Amino acid sequence: MVYPKTFQGFAITDLSKWTETELIEYEPKVFDDYDVDIKIDACGICGSDVHTASSGWNTPALPLVVGHEVVGKVVAVGPKVTEFKVGDRVGCGAQVWACLKKTCPACSTDNEVYCPHWVDTYNCTYPPESGKSAGGKAMGGYASHIRVHEYFTFHIPESLKNEDVAPMLCAGITTYSPLVRNGAGPGVKVGCVSIGGLGHFAIMWAKALGAEVYVFSRGEKKREDAFKLGADHYIATGEKGWNEPIKMKLDFIVSSANSSEGFDLGSYLSCLKVGGKFISVGLPEKPFNVGPGSFIANASSLSSSHLGSRPEMKEMLKLAAEKGIKAWNEPIAISAAGVKEGLEKCHHNNVKYRVVLNEFDKAFD
Ligand code: NDP
Repeated sequence: MVYPKTFQGFAITDLSKWTETELIEYEPKVFDDYDVDIKIDACGICGSDVHTASSGWNTPALPLVVGHEVVGKVVAVGPKVTEFKVGDRVGCGAQVWACLKKTCPACSTDNEVYCPHWVDTYNCTYPPESGKSAGGKAMGGYASHIRVHEYFTFHIPESLKNEDVAPMLCAGITTYSPLVRNGAGPGVKVGCVSIGGLGHFAIMWAKALGAEVYVFSRGEKKREDAFKLGADHYIATGEKGWNEPIKMKLDFIVSSANSSEGFDLGSYLSCLKVGGKFISVGLPEKPFNVGPGSFIANASSLSSSHLGSRPEMKEMLKLAAEKGIKAWNEPIAISAAGVKEGLEKCHHNNVKYRVVLNEFDKAFD
């Protein structure tokens, strides 16, 4: 391998065999003044990796290296980088760039995740607004290295092991942000729908923030885990009428369900107090079937939320370090076989609750 000119990564090269990756070498986008190069040590496998690799949302550009829950060591910094130096242990999540201009209504209000020019960590091309990076292709974390703007790079608390923290960089922040923005705390009743990579964090954060936590899962299988994660109440949604005892009780719901198949949105909405919000951070491939009539009984609303801001990421990592919160993870050594196993486990909902690829030193030079 010839870093820094090229990186290596496990890439999907044939969409008809989306779990079968090939080790390729590619040129990263140009090294810009604020860039940080990270040599990767661990990367979580997110539900979004599966949606993207399997063409569930749309047809991705090939070759495609996914992965956006990255932890590693800084190996190079651009001349204008101020917060990081070579050797620092850092992480990055699902966003690597935004315009960050004072005139941008999103970036100037700690909403850089909603910048109209945001760049996802993979399957994304740098826009003209990114100057000399324009046209560069963002490639993800199943790779030897990743190149990230310093604003989207984060120091990792010393007490958190790579595998315990990597999933926080996407799954963690995506659930933390809507919880804090909607006031999760003492006296607030929060619903957390589905127990997966994102969902298990939603429960741990909601509990750590002091809310009363109602957990919804499709059956009884995850009941015990839900209480270990911090649930106060568990609702199995398999049987009709499951919503009856909790109608109009919850302040808001954060859902990380990744499919709308058989998803009874109306019953979840009925659990909300008047004016309550159902926030779907999950991004099902097919839309929910709703009309205004679905919201009329309690003036509830349907909303979503994207990742989280830089200040929220810092707060979340601090909270995790203080309270000893860790991802429930299953490590798999990165290789073509390891990536295949991990993607399949995530796809089949057969992991508690995040696969984290590790042992990168053995796979790359
Ligand atoms: P996981 O596969 O780990 O978890 C998904 C969970 O969804 C499952 O554990 C299951 O929970 C539930 N589920 C699956 N099928 C159904 C169904 N038909 N009806 C109801 N629930 C179902 O995925 P992740 O947690 O990694 O990701 C979840 C979603 O969040 C994905 O769509 C992903 O793309 C999205 N995402 C969104 C982001 C954002 O910025 N908004 C960022 C990152 C991810 P159970 O068995 O408990 O019912």
